[in-house]
Amino acid sequence: MRSKLLSIASSRSSISLDSKHFKVSSIFATYVFDLPKMKNYVAQNAFQTYAKCVKEKQKIDSDTAAHIAHGMKTWAMEHGVKSYTHWFQPLTGATAEKHDSFFELNEDGLAIENFSASSLIQQEPDASSFPNGGIRQTFEARGYTAWDISSPAFIMVSENHATLCIPTIFISYTGETLDFKAPLLKSINALENAVLPVAQLFDKNITEIYPTLGWEQEYFLVDEALYYSRVDLLQTGRTLFGVAPAKGQQLEDHYFGSIPERVLDFMTDLECEAHMLGIPLRTRHNEVAPNQFECAPMFEAVNIAVDHNQLLMDLMHKVAKKHKFKVLLHEKPFKGVNGSGKHNNWSLSTNTGKNLLAPGKTPKNNLLFLTTIVNVVAAVAQYSDLIRVAIASAGNDHRLGASEAPPAIISVFLGKAISNIFDEIANTELENDDQIISDSIRLSIHNSIPEIMLDNTDRNRTSPFAFTGNKFEIRAVGSSANCSFVMSVMNTIVAKQFSSFYHQVNDLIKSGIKKEIAILQTIKELIKTSEFIRFEGDNYSKEWEEEAARRGLSNRKNTPDALDFLIEPRNIDAFVSQKVYTEKEIHARYEILNHQYTLTIQIEARILGDIAVNSVIPSALKYLNVLLDNITKSKALFDDVSLYQGQMELAKTISTHINDIKFNVDEMIESRKKCNSETHIPKQTKMYYELVFPYLERIRYHIDKLELLTDNSLWPMAKYRELMFIK
Ligand code: ADP
Ligand code: MG
Repeated sequence: MRSKLLSIASSRSSISLDSKHFKVSSIFATYVFDLPKMKNYVAQNAFQTYAKCVKEKQKIDSDTAAHIAHGMKTWAMEHGVKSYTHWFQPLTGATAEKHDSFFELNEDGLAIENFSASSLIQQEPDASSFPNGGIRQTFEARGYTAWDISSPAFIMVSENHATLCIPTIFISYTGETLDFKAPLLKSINALENAVLPVAQLFDKNITEIYPTLGWEQEYFLVDEALYYSRVDLLQTGRTLFGVAPAKGQQLEDHYFGSIPERVLDFMTDLECEAHMLGIPLRTRHNEVAPNQFECAPMFEAVNIAVDHNQLLMDLMHKVAKKHKFKVLLHEKPFKGVNGSGKHNNWSLSTNTGKNLLAPGKTPKNNLLFLTTIVNVVAAVAQYSDLIRVAIASAGNDHRLGASEAPPAIISVFLGKAISNIFDEIANTELENDDQIISDSIRLSIHNSIPEIMLDNTDRNRTSPFAFTGNKFEIRAVGSSANCSFVMSVMNTIVAKQFSSFYHQVNDLIKSGIKKEIAILQTIKELIKTSEFIRFEGDNYSKEWEEEAARRGLSNRKNTPDALDFLIEPRNIDAFVSQKVYTEKEIHARYEILNHQYTLTIQIEARILGDIAVNSVIPSALKYLNVLLDNITKSKALFDDVSLYQGQMELAKTISTHINDIKFNVDEMIESRKKCNSETHIPKQTKMYYELVFPYLERIRYHIDKLELLTDNSLWPMAKYRELMFIK
């Protein structure tokens, strides 16, 4: 069976690469209703109102919406679009759509194409089918989606369909958010409100601040035909058993190696489709593990970057199909080789074109840079536990701390140059009016800039939160995650920190201290109080774990424990004070995240149990029978037992593993029943972690032993050595 699969696997798909005749600039954003297109399709007044509303974050009136809807429909129909959907990001982690047609019958019964303002602004999907953490009781099943005017509409094109997609937020009828996007937008607002007054202490021309995100998406590719032979991959996104191939990643020959042609075809196709949707992909390369790759775009405003990452993940599956691949976005699809992450590069931009985390050319600008970086470090020092929550998932548990990704301990890496500046400021005596000292610090910051630039190469790839010259890189995010949650957390905690900074500085100024000294004094205090979060060494080392414990940094290695951070009063307060979540919404999310963990382990346990009992054991038994048959015949013919001693031992070992699988599966089922009778969701999650999860590894151990012992031709599924190498 497997040889047949392998032959299907090696037959190449036909690849249409018409796109190679185009310049990227000529196809970029073809399917996006961006401002230049809107200008062409919408009346000037309506267009101007729209642009103003986006800039000032105002609501759009229905008259303007009607004009835009009409223009959007005309443009979309020129691309063959017949239906539209509100495109949203429910808490499942995937994106969701509910298609409606432009077609309708008018009062005279005539068929027309129509797209009204209200259809653009709002749709009503059934909220009961999405995770809501108890917010939506069954008597109020409705939820609604509302147009996010800050993210442009786009057309999803497939072979036979073209659908107009309108990015939206998803809320319950009682007003609570049920998605990732709404809190993200709120956090972006909170951040701007908090950082702006501080930035204006330095530069009155700064009137807008927005966070930026550049993600790096890691993924695996496997051959489609082989993928379908692995029920575990199909149902859970990861392999639940399988022996690492003799040649894995130990030769380190895959990272940045030449990209296999078939993969390159896929990547080129993906880039072309992504570019047409306005996703600015720029980078592609091999990753550490065999068949592991990465792509990254140019950074964008966080809201757009998140939408683009969600869209890209969908697109990857679609394009992979054409190339007879399957994309694996799971954090750990294969045991024994590196898993996949999604680095989130985060920074702050202004309307004046400044990156607040990029050191500037003048001492004045550098003080703004220093203020920003110090406040970000202070925010992480205070709320590192929230970052831990934001990266927690059943999939990511397999990766964090496994010497391939940062551990569950959150710390900040700054690099030598910035660390020196921090230390110097912390150790300088600052007196009011001491202009000389203030000047000397300014000078020292200024002189260190060339060093910071050089420091760009001083990367610590083991740190979960690293300054990389002009942005922070959050390195522990899982590959399948929606970036929104971790971005919302970043924006919220930095907003909270900046607003307290502003008040502190203002109080000092009011007490008669000069502005610059007040800023430096506050910075100095923050550097001192946040020192414990800074770590420049090897985050993968045992010593760091011990040192972190001495510093009192938390180290919750599994998701169920990490999630409890979310409902600690000080963390709830951070979200509530910044108006990102209400307390009710946090509790709902806490419940959803717990439940998602339980469901993941429950599904994995069921699939593994099934495969073990109805695929693995029968295959092993077939081979055992061959052995037993041969032993019986040998006994009859040979006097010398030693001639079939090896077979007897093999048969015994196989029998033992079969027994162990059978009894462990039985026990696992009993454990599951016990967990399922617990109705308190977070308690049930912890039970699943303690009572069910360990069986996955225990059962796997015996299956992997059998894989090595059983006749290769009888093994029921593709092995790692086939799955992990693309021919
Ligand atoms: P690597 O971490 O692999 O060395 P790069 O230096 O190529 O990565 O950059 C990685 C990502 O950082 C890219 O997606 C890029 O868009 C993003 N990035 C660069 N500048 C910023 C910024 N100011 N804000 C957010 N992301 C940024
Ligand atoms: Mg990176």
